[in-house]
Amino acid sequence: MSAATAQKIEEHEVVIIGAGVCGIYQLHRMLDMGVDAVVVEMSDDLGGTWYNNRYPGCRFDSESYTYGYSFSKELLNEWHWVEAYSPQPENLKYLNHVADKFNLRPHMQFNCKVDHARFEESEDRWYLDLSDGRTMSCRFMIMGLGLLSQPTLPKIKGREDYKGKAFHTYYWPHEGVDMKGKKVAIIGTGATAIQIIPEVAKEADSLTVFQRRANWAAPLNNYKITDEKMAEIRSRYDEIFEACAKSPGGFEHHPDRRGFWEVDRDERLAMWEQLYKEPGFGIWLKNFREIFTHEDANAEISEFIASKIRERVKDPVTAEKLIPKDHGFGVQRVPLETFYYEAYNRDNVELIDISETPIERITENGIKTSERDFDFDIIVYATGFDAITGAYDHMDIQGRDDFVLREKWSDGPETYLGMMVHGFPNMLMPAGPQSGSASTNYPRGIENGVNWCTDLLKVVWDKGYTRVEATAEAEERWTRHVAEMYSTMLMRKAKSWFTGYNSNVEGHEAGRIRYFVYNGGTPKYMKTINEVRDKGYEGVVLSSPGSSGMVPPHQIGDAAD
Ligand code: NAP
Repeated sequence: MSAATAQKIEEHEVVIIGAGVCGIYQLHRMLDMGVDAVVVEMSDDLGGTWYNNRYPGCRFDSESYTYGYSFSKELLNEWHWVEAYSPQPENLKYLNHVADKFNLRPHMQFNCKVDHARFEESEDRWYLDLSDGRTMSCRFMIMGLGLLSQPTLPKIKGREDYKGKAFHTYYWPHEGVDMKGKKVAIIGTGATAIQIIPEVAKEADSLTVFQRRANWAAPLNNYKITDEKMAEIRSRYDEIFEACAKSPGGFEHHPDRRGFWEVDRDERLAMWEQLYKEPGFGIWLKNFREIFTHEDANAEISEFIASKIRERVKDPVTAEKLIPKDHGFGVQRVPLETFYYEAYNRDNVELIDISETPIERITENGIKTSERDFDFDIIVYATGFDAITGAYDHMDIQGRDDFVLREKWSDGPETYLGMMVHGFPNMLMPAGPQSGSASTNYPRGIENGVNWCTDLLKVVWDKGYTRVEATAEAEERWTRHVAEMYSTMLMRKAKSWFTGYNSNVEGHEAGRIRYFVYNGGTPKYMKTINEVRDKGYEGVVLSSPGSSGMVPPHQIGDAAD
């Protein structure tokens, strides 16, 4: 960057990309420390996932009171979650409340997408080209990009020919969609579709669901939170967050530590009956660990859930179609549902199995399968995301020397602790690929990641360093460790976003696993990252121009003060 153009560039110590759950907390930590930090966000307001996904039925699958931020007692005491699994409008209201309470909004800039980020080695600074034509520079670039923020439309011929209303669930129109009297199609039966289908079924004249692969789902069993219940929750917040920190998934749900085969089959079935009635992820996360690792154990729980689907869906042919045949229960993130299966008992809902009669094309008026021509007023694409690395791939990120992130990650992410990447100094990802966030209760993981990155930056600033970067060896070790953990898990065989599968993204079709998530659980992850910190940031090199190159970690001895 030449001196002539330098004055046009907005300079900050820290630029945080993304105003979602992660960016909001990271900004708060920075401002609290008096650091010059700004958030840049491509949408026109804050909230990330909860700003964009406005489809009917969209809500938490985490218990609301474990999803909120834990850092402020005052915030915890003043917020009343209205439902055990809070709906999207409330979630967005909550994030706005947090931003207003901590005066974060003046430090956020909207409608500015980062197209290109480049690390300038001679200055130890990042230069960011924004979609509005501006350039920004910062010492540290912190990624709050979200795990599921790059929606993907299906690769189906004729999509552009369709004359009716059509949208991806992520871009649900802000003014809402009137479904009354309309013929509606939904493509996809993932977690999003499972939330929206029962809601559209209630409104639309007809709903046709196009399913390629069935997905296991279990009841959410949501309930309203009364004043009394909220008071009880408030009195238990310390206990709740402690329980989340001790569980692998970052939830209050803890796995059953008894061996699967040590427990009598009748007892197992009775336990599953009970868990199926309980709110939330209990049926998935309070279960025996073997259901994730042993085919026989998994087959048994899968059969139990299949029997529930058969009980709930009146038409036996439809019920069979809704039972997954290609993977077992729980090897993909389990969608939680509210009357999803009952929706198929309605006269106005039809399930089309496109594994039998594939979609040939989208037409001007609707959808043509190998068997039928359908006319629709509205087509909803509930077709998922270019998950985890998608948002990074869509940004052109050039590190030092010739490192280009998209190229480095072309076969899957390589990271150190999921928070740093070798070749990309001063880029931190509190909730990055392979971090402790992706496969857990997301905000719990985010707070841990943000706190760890903030501690690291404190050391950098206290010691006067200007550069921080993971070593190639540390990165290789972590990436191998993350991959090795997949080897015992049945999930490695599943076509899901945990293995990097997306049929609509080139290179992400089934066949090659991408090691996207850390499967060791919250306590192990925390132990590891805290040990790294306590050993003076082992595997991380801190340096400054005056230090003539890299400073070995042992030289920063008291770094963890
Ligand atoms: P998803 O699980 O990836 O599901 C996408 C669906 O679209 C799948 O059924 C897929 O079929 C189908 N599909 C994609 N391309 C298609 C094509 N070309 N033709 C036909 N069908 C196609 O995506 P998602 O439902 O958006 O969920 C993603 C994640 O978001 C979830 O796992 C969850 O973590 C998160 N989420 C959370 C909540 C919550 O409760 N908080 C709600 C919604 C989503 P195939 O399986 O055959 O590819």
